[in-house]
Amino acid sequence: MNRCAAALAAIFTCLTLGAIGAQAQDEDNQVLADAMAFALHDAAFTMYHEIGHLLVGELGLPVLGKEEDAVDALATIWLLEFDESDDSYDALIDAADGWYFNAVNSTGSGVDDFSYYDEHSLDIQRAYAMVCMMVGKDPEAFGETADIYELDTDQQEACGYTYEQALTSWMTLLDPHLTEDDSVASIEVVYDEAGDYEDYARALKDYRIMEYAAETVAASFLLPGPVTFRATQCGEPNAFYDPSASEVIYCYEMAEHMFYMYLYDIVGWGDTAN
Ligand SMILES: [Zn+2]
Repeated sequence: MNRCAAALAAIFTCLTLGAIGAQAQDEDNQVLADAMAFALHDAAFTMYHEIGHLLVGELGLPVLGKEEDAVDALATIWLLEFDESDDSYDALIDAADGWYFNAVNSTGSGVDDFSYYDEHSLDIQRAYAMVCMMVGKDPEAFGETADIYELDTDQQEACGYTYEQALTSWMTLLDPHLTEDDSVASIEVVYDEAGDYEDYARALKDYRIMEYAAETVAASFLLPGPVTFRATQCGEPNAFYDPSASEVIYCYEMAEHMFYMYLYDIVGWGDTAN
């Protein structure tokens, strides 16, 4: 029996509660959609990072300093300069926040036992390096983000030089490898069986993260041979460039990891449970 049928006086209350329930459901659905968008934004950055490794490997590019830092810079440049998606700037903010919350989750300050000799910089440094390049390129768009990250005015200004240097360096290295005609390199996009990660595989396909990256790279660079972009299950949240197979691999687990990071660390689901 409809609970609201019991008494006329209760109807208004029931309708109101029903509306609140529906509203809460809508809000939950919105948060879940936002979490998926966060995961996909990070996937775009991650793909461009791995494509950086691929370009270094396939084109035999020299690297001064840490390759991991260099390809983080390229991924950032790519989203700032060459990705024509409407949300490429949001993707950068989400990817930087991803490194930030990874750092917070490790020890609170982003330092753990292995960090000092890891080939990657500390997650917290990766977040700040990205934000510096972002505000260096476009102070108007990213000034607020840089303020949230507490980069002071002098630092934000100095980031303009940091960005220009990274951009010029990468463009100098890539220039001899740009396509001059309509020839397009062969890049195949493969989605392996997703199992429990089917929702993430579907979202990746729907938003064409890998296809878009593949089309852009294929149309931009003369690659020495065919390459593959593969989404697969890896048993860990990660992404790789495999030089022996000329493959960029994005693990479905990575999307899940970022999805839950958004829910638990950014929105705070679970903080107030019971
Ligand atoms: Zn890397």
